[in-house]
Amino acid sequence: MVRMSRYAHVFDLEEAVALYHSLRMKPVYLTKEAYEDLQAWLVSPFCNDYDDAPEKIKNEVSELVKYKILNHSEEDDEKVLAFVKSRIPAPAINVCYMITSEQCNLACKYCFLGNNDAKKRSSFVLENMSKETADKALDFFARQIKLSGLDTDENKPAIIFYGGEPLVNYDVLVYIAGKINDLRNTDSSLRNTEMSMVSNGLLLTKERALKLKELGVSIAISVDGFTEKANGMRVDVAGNNVFNKILQTLDMCKEIGIDVSLSVTLSEETIKNTKDILNLVDNYGVKSFGFNIMMSDENFIIPQEYNEAAAKFIIEEFVELRKKGIYEDRIMRKLKAFTKSQVYFSDCAATGGGQIVIAPNGQVGICHGCLHNKQYFVTTVDDVQFDATKHKDFIEWSQLTPINKEECQDCSALGICGGGCPINAMHLKKGNTIHDLDERFCTHSKVTLDFLIKDLYRIIKEGKA
Ligand code: SF4
Ligand code: SF4
Repeated sequence: MVRMSRYAHVFDLEEAVALYHSLRMKPVYLTKEAYEDLQAWLVSPFCNDYDDAPEKIKNEVSELVKYKILNHSEEDDEKVLAFVKSRIPAPAINVCYMITSEQCNLACKYCFLGNNDAKKRSSFVLENMSKETADKALDFFARQIKLSGLDTDENKPAIIFYGGEPLVNYDVLVYIAGKINDLRNTDSSLRNTEMSMVSNGLLLTKERALKLKELGVSIAISVDGFTEKANGMRVDVAGNNVFNKILQTLDMCKEIGIDVSLSVTLSEETIKNTKDILNLVDNYGVKSFGFNIMMSDENFIIPQEYNEAAAKFIIEEFVELRKKGIYEDRIMRKLKAFTKSQVYFSDCAATGGGQIVIAPNGQVGICHGCLHNKQYFVTTVDDVQFDATKHKDFIEWSQLTPINKEECQDCSALGICGGGCPINAMHLKKGNTIHDLDERFCTHSKVTLDFLIKDLYRIIKEGKA
């Protein structure tokens, strides 16, 4: 008998219906009439095979078969799932979060690293990364890239200077960037390395900005909107708002012609006003963006309504920003997967099995969200035998994709989701582990898929008009 796949989902577009297989990821748009005919046929006794379809929906049925939305049995579904699972990447390192310092000059109220919490803050390592550790860290990273076997022309290695606040240890940051540029000529694994820095911008002077540009380190500044109110959670240790100082940094970068990207944490205040971000773009000629959804933990509880509002905000901003030729990272990654009909396995390099984090004292871990307690920090830069591709924790993390989760199998967003952040999942409820769902992210994934399916329909319709 012909049946709807377990992975088929129906989207009501008012004048039409979209049928969509969450792993094959090609929506098929039907008129309401054709959808009703399809439903009638599927419950009739005359649907033993695809050829039995009534003449008037034969074309539609053939599309639905092509995109696996109709099939014959559970076994057909299992085959699709097995194929997708066979594509889950094994650990292969090409991203390194280089924590030049765990110390931060701010204490943002939503900080997922724990700078908003005196106990966690006191557990951060005081000493900054030394040049000696930095040397070993680069050797360690280069070794992991080689062991990964990746083609570094296609999978360019990335070093992300992070903290704490990376500029707290500016000298070593410059030392590492300079050394990478020297090594490009002699070490093929590092030849294509891209470097970036995520900073709160307060310690960025004109000289430093120009030096970073010369070294090829791109700069991302964290700012949460265009008003002091929207940046109300971005405070120093004494609780003072630092928005005006960030604006001074942005002004300075604009004046000396340095492009910055923005890392915007979506506070509840930020998402109240969609114009705020557009003002930032217009004023500072910003060309790239990343939105961060706030995470809950025991000190910072986020109301349920926030997730939905943040997801909608990201979509609204995406629509406005693309008119200006600017694309927000988070949606772009999902959009690419959707357009290419390729399952998006993980939403961060840590769950993709591609990332190492190197702490200032040389400890090596998987995720910078664990800096405060060094959970999943499994070795040190002195370990010349270490091979992340064979380490059990790296293998475990590389398998955290929703594709492997039973509770995700009936979700329409399965193919574009990536699963969000396991650290957030772990903090959501007592007893949770990295294997639980990042429920905050579910809302974002589902709202995004709904948008992508409707947006594609609009584009097809306009094309036909
Ligand atoms: S697990 Fe979460 S905190 Fe860690 S790298 Fe991924 S998204 Fe970031
Ligand atoms: S994590 Fe949530 S949104 Fe993602 S596939 Fe699972 S249930 Fe769906």
